[in-house]
Amino acid sequence: MSDPAYVLDSTAFYAGIPYQGNGRYYTTYLVLEEVKHHSVGSSLIHTRVQVTEPSQESLGQVKATAAKTGDIRALSQTDLSLLALGLDLKKSEGGVSLVSDDFAIRNVAEVLSIPLAPTSLKGGEWKNTTWKMYCRGCGKTYTNPKLTTCPICGTQLVRKASNS
Ligand SMILES: [Zn+2]
Repeated sequence: MSDPAYVLDSTAFYAGIPYQGNGRYYTTYLVLEEVKHHSVGSSLIHTRVQVTEPSQESLGQVKATAAKTGDIRALSQTDLSLLALGLDLKKSEGGVSLVSDDFAIRNVAEVLSIPLAPTSLKGGEWKNTTWKMYCRGCGKTYTNPKLTTCPICGTQLVRKASNS
C-alpha cells in the first residue's frame, strides 16, 4: 500500500498542510503562483509538496466536463489545472484526494470521480466537513441535503461547507 496522495488548491495551503503523517502532496505551478507569497508557503512547499504540470489530455477532459456541468465560468485556469492534475494522479497513482472547498471544483471533481477531501484542519488532520444547502437567491441555508430548490424563493440550491 502506498501513502495517501493529495492534490492541494490554494485554500488548502491557507488552511495549513498537515506536517505529520505520510501523505504525499501535489499541486500545480498556477496554484504555487497564488500561494508563494503567503507565509505558510515556501518552506513547506519545498519539503512536502511536489509541483507538477497536468497533461493536456486531462486538461481537455476537465474543460469538456466543466462545460457540460455549467461550472466552467466559475473555474479559473488555476482551478482547471488542479482538476486536471487530480485526474492525472487518479490514473497514475491509483488513489488521490483533491483538497478544495471551492464549490465548482468539488462539483466537477465529483462528476470526474476524483475523490475529495475537506480543507479544514483539526489536530493535524483534515476533518470532515458538514455540508449545508445554500440559497443564492435569498441566502437561506438548509440542513437537508436532499433539497435541490429553495422552498421559499425557488432558486436552485448549492452545497456549501459548514464550519460549525
Ligand atoms: Zn431562496
